[in-house]
Order: sequence, then structure tokens, then C-alpha cells
Amino acid sequence: MFAKILIANRGEIALRIMRTAKAMGIGSVAVHSDADARAPHVRAADEAVHIGASPASASYLVIDKILDAVRQTGAEAVHPGYGFLSENAAFAEALASAGVAFIGPPAPAIEKMGDKITSKKLADEAGVNVVPGHPDVIEDADAAVEVARNIGYPVMLKASAGGGGKGMRIAWNDDDARAGFGSAHNEATASFGDGRIFIEKFITEPRHIEIQILGDTHGNMVHLGERECSIQRRNQKVIEEAPSPYLDPKLRKAMGAQAIALARAVDYHSAGTVEFIADSERNFYFLEMNTRLQVEHPVTEMITGVDLVEAMIRIAAGEKLDLKQSDVKIDGWAVESRIYAEDPYRGFLPSTGRLTRYRPPAEGGGVRNDDGVAEGGEISIFYDPMIAKLITHAPDRLGAIDAMATALDGYRIDGIRHNIDFLTAIMRHPRFCDGKLTTAFIDEEYGADFTGAPLDDARCAVLAAIAFTCIMRRDDRLSSHVEAVRAVSIGERQFEAVRAADGSLTLDGKAVSVETDWQSGDVFFRGAVDGAPLTLRTDALTEGMRLNGGGADVMVYVRTPRAQELMQYMPTTSGDSGRDALLCPMPGVVVSVDVEAGQKVKAGEALAVVEAMKMENILRAERDVVIAEINCASGDKLAVDDVMMTFATSHDD
Ligand code: ADP
Ligand code: ADP
Ligand code: MG
Repeated sequence: MFAKILIANRGEIALRIMRTAKAMGIGSVAVHSDADARAPHVRAADEAVHIGASPASASYLVIDKILDAVRQTGAEAVHPGYGFLSENAAFAEALASAGVAFIGPPAPAIEKMGDKITSKKLADEAGVNVVPGHPDVIEDADAAVEVARNIGYPVMLKASAGGGGKGMRIAWNDDDARAGFGSAHNEATASFGDGRIFIEKFITEPRHIEIQILGDTHGNMVHLGERECSIQRRNQKVIEEAPSPYLDPKLRKAMGAQAIALARAVDYHSAGTVEFIADSERNFYFLEMNTRLQVEHPVTEMITGVDLVEAMIRIAAGEKLDLKQSDVKIDGWAVESRIYAEDPYRGFLPSTGRLTRYRPPAEGGGVRNDDGVAEGGEISIFYDPMIAKLITHAPDRLGAIDAMATALDGYRIDGIRHNIDFLTAIMRHPRFCDGKLTTAFIDEEYGADFTGAPLDDARCAVLAAIAFTCIMRRDDRLSSHVEAVRAVSIGERQFEAVRAADGSLTLDGKAVSVETDWQSGDVFFRGAVDGAPLTLRTDALTEGMRLNGGGADVMVYVRTPRAQELMQYMPTTSGDSGRDALLCPMPGVVVSVDVEAGQKVKAGEALAVVEAMKMENILRAERDVVIAEINCASGDKLAVDDVMMTFATSHDD
């Protein structure tokens, strides 16, 4: 076995790999950029090597710098994690030439599977179902229309070199096909330096189901069942689970057999994932193979008990797989949520900044939290916006979902925007709980606007009782046995809350019990209402509380009846800022400015596109405006709140 390995990655995946290395008694070497000098993955490693400036293109993506770090530290093997150099055949080859083991598959397998056109042809030859289509390069927009017509709409235009959901467009008609070819080609050229596009049938009501495989260098290969990753936004995974509620043992066996057939066709070893798309008739088709450890590998680990990183390390060291297909058993259900630095309430805009507070829920008892950040750390513009992956495991699906909702309520991140409310709302969504998933779930259920999980009357009453209890505790700690009456309001909903001299509570005349040891200053409420346990994030305010949990962010006002009466005389402010300029919402690079000075723009129209954290963000007009002056151009690097353009005040509204 290796004595020391280098991890050519950062963040949660670097920490996750080091955890297993440590458990195996293997020393670990971290590499880091300028921005990551004090990152948790650097502190957790036995040794660390600085490899360059903050942009990945100057550090984590530079093969020579990784090789230097290997030489300098004497590491015998390299684990690439995911992203970065993990699917770079030249990197695997360079390591081999240097006599260093690559903890991953053979370079030729990476090469063949890295190209979607090549991998589809290979899959077809190996007897794997492939999406009907045209796995050849499309020359121009006219050819795209012709091929699309032959396949039959809807179709998907895809970048052969694609990854991370980029370079992909759905076309429902000739116009879409023509426009989609141009934009997919441009995006692919910009992102991958390779603009080759092919076209395949768009599978309707699609579910993303993938098979985890594991093979050694001695010809042994097993599959570890499936993961369903249908909860996606912009073709990127948000929530994953294993097993899939869609599969039965027969379908699992058929998909597993095809995945193994494909892997064998490229002499695969190590861990790998064969992605399929399934339609509403239970047909399934090969999408692509990811020749690396997958982001969502923990759900498979939770239900099979196999440590995939350990298996990869042992395989790279030449050991035989100690697992036969019949040994692979599925135990219970696991769900993973990707916690992203993005604001679901503002069109999922990426968010950067310092984590002024970072309190993940306690691990154990079926809860696992894979993260790579720490309180005080920074979410920078340079890397992926994923903060952490929260995984829960229970005997059945609803148990795992409920455990996830509870664990999410116990997660507190302040200082930046994050998607915890959105994830929790999905866990509480009846269609999700029913397992009626497709990759369109998020679009269909939320569109672009997330406004929080719906609040019913019962939930409002629970929140009112909690806010009343906490605020009374804060305000009159010394005289808690005096009768008190308060008006408690949540939006339009109002309750009369009364505490009797004996400490008992009523809400609109109905008795309610709140048990908690919450004290002023606590950032969580942990307790029970009428015996039902509950955790919420709390911020006490002068006139009430902000209660955040269950997927909703709620202001609860607690006022004396007199103060409540006077509220009607308070001026109301409209939510619209009526700002006369477009400010850059996050640090990033201007991709395009889509308007010009003097132009009249309707609310909702695109003004400019800013790229930050690998996402292109369209900035739209919040109301009808006339553009006065443009202060930026494509290619400009902007900071938060930089004025991108100003609007002329229009007097006709
Ligand atoms: P998985 O299938 O394991 O979820 P993803 O497609 O989400 O994989 O990608 C894994 C990681 O690699 C993510 O952090 C993603 O942002 C990054 N990634 C994948 N492909 C690319 C790409 N072509 N360009 C930039 N980042 C990528
Ligand atoms: P990437 O390399 O970016 O991960 P994939 O080919 O794996 O690209 O596709 C990403 C996602 O796009 C899939 O998970 C699925 O949701 C959607 N998708 C891809 N191809 C199709 C298709 N032919 N029909 C329907 N959805 C598709
Ligand atoms: Mg994919």
C-alpha cells in the first residue's frame, strides 16, 4: 500500500479523500492556490504545497505544478477528486510517465469516455441502449435543422466535449434548432475550446438514473446499484438519492449489466459512473460515462457500506476487489442535498463572501455532512459554489427525506446567501415525497421564482407560539408569572397570544404548549410545540423574531395590543427599490451588455449577462426603464455594487 498520496483538488472532496487516507494509515499531501492558503483541506493534510495563483487555470488545472508537488513530497499516488484534472487523460499519462500511480481509471478509458460522440459509438457497439440521434459532428445551422427534422422534435443539441451541464440546448422546432446550434456551439467553444455539436432525441419526462461501477486491474467488476439525480436546475444536480424510487430489481439488473458491459469495452478499472436517462415507459438510454469519483458518491456509500475512495486507492495499488456482485446489498435509503452559495429568492444568483457563522448539524445517527469550509472562511469567486453536501440515511425513503428536512433545519450559515430553504422546501414537497420525479421538477414546481415553502394555518400557529414564547422570555425574564397579552402577526395572519399567571399559553383562546430552553442570543430554537419536536433558526428582533426553517423564512411580529393598533398609522414602503441604476449583484466578469443607451426596456428583459462561479447570470430589468448610460463592456471585471448602467427616470409611471 502507498505510504503517501497527493490530492489534486480542494474543498470538500479533498477533505473527504484525506479522511479515508488517514483511516488507512496513508499520509496525505494537499495542494493549494493563493486563495486557499488557509483552507480546511490544507490544515487537514500532513503536508501542503502551494501551486499558484487563485484562478484554477493558474493552479489546480496546471499539470506541471501538480507533478512538481508530487516530486517535492515523494507522494506515490495522486487522487484527482472530481472536476479539475479528474477526467484529463494527459494528466493520467503524465503521472504514469513519472512513475506515479493515478487513483482513477486508465488514460485511454478517460479519453474515449470524455468525448460524447466517441462514447456513444462505443456504447452502441457494446450493446448499450443509446439515445436515438445523430452521433456525428453537425457542420452548421442548416445541417442542425435537417438532422433535427430527421430525428423528430424535440431534440437536444449537445457539446461533444460537454460537462457540468454546459453547451446544451433543447429544440422544439426549426427556429430553436437553428438558434440552439449557434449558442451551444459558442458556449462549447468558450467553455471547452471545442465547439463540436451533435444532436440526439430529447427524452420527455426524463429521469436521470446512473449506475456506480467498481472494477480492479484483474478483471473483476461489480456495480453498486443506482442513484437517481433527477432533481436538477439547468441540467445540474441539486438533490440525489439511492436507490431510485423508479427502479425494481429487474430494471436495476438490466441497467447494471449494460453499465458493466460498457466499462469492460474500454478496459475500465477504478470507480466510474454510467449515466442513463429513463423515460416514462421505463426505457433507459446511455447519456455519458463519468470516469471519476462522482460528487454524489456518498449516497451509494451509505446504502452499500462500501467506502468508494478506499476501494479506488486499493485498486490503484493493484489489490483485488474483495467484493462479488452477490455481496452487494442495498440497505435502506439515502438522500443528498447540495448546499450551494446561491440565493434562491433572487433567481439563484451566486453569492460570495465570508461565512460569518457556519454551524452544520451534528453528524451520526444517519446524518453525514461532507464540507470543505469553516466559520470565518470565504466563498470566493474562483471556484465552485458548493459549500457542503448533506447526506441522510434511514430504513426507508420517507425516513431519509424527513431526516434531511430535520438536518437542514439544524444547519446555520450566515454571511452569504445559500439554498437551504429551497432544499428544505423540496423535502416537504408532496410530489417529491411521492417520488414522481423528472428532471423538469424544479422548473415545473418553482419556475424561476422561489418564494419559500407554503405556510398553512397550523404552521403559522406553531411559529406564532414559538415567537411569543421566545420574545416573552427575552423581555421579562424576571417576571414570567405575570399575565401578558400580545398581538402576534405573520403576514396578514394575526393571533392573540396570552400567557396566564401560571405560565400556560393560549393562542386565539386555544391552549398550546411550547417546551424549549431557548435563551436570548441563541441562533437556534430547539424544542417541541404540543409535543412535536422542532428546530428552527432564530434571530430575535426588537419587535419580534425571524424564524427560518421548514423551507420558509418568516418574520413574526410580537407586539402589545396597543402597538399593534398603532401599526395602521405606519407608512408602508413599496418593495421596489425604484433604483435608477443596475448594480452588479456579485463579483464577476461581464459576458455581454444586451441594451444600449436610449433604449426603452420592459420589465423582465435582459440587460446584461455576468459570469461568476462558472454560471452565466442574466440580469433583467425589474421594471420598465429607459437606459441612460452604459458603464461597462463585455470582458470587464466587476465588483459587487459596481454601477453597470443607469436608467433615465421616466415620468409616465
Ligand atoms: P457529478 O455528475 O459528479 O455531479 P458534475 O457534472 O456536477 O458531476 O461535475 C462535477 C464537478 O466538476 C462540479 O464541481 C462541476 O462544477 C465540475 N465540472 C464538471 N464539468 C465541468 C466543466 N466542463 N467545466 C467546469 N467544471 C466542471
Ligand atoms: P453533462 O456532461 O453536462 O453532465 P449529460 O449528457 O450528462 O451532460 O446531461 C446532463 C443532464 O441533461 C442530464 O442529467 C439530463 O437531465 C439532461 N439531458 C441530457 N441529455 C438529454 C436528453 N437526450 N433528453 C433529455 N434530457 C437530457
Ligand atoms: Mg452528466
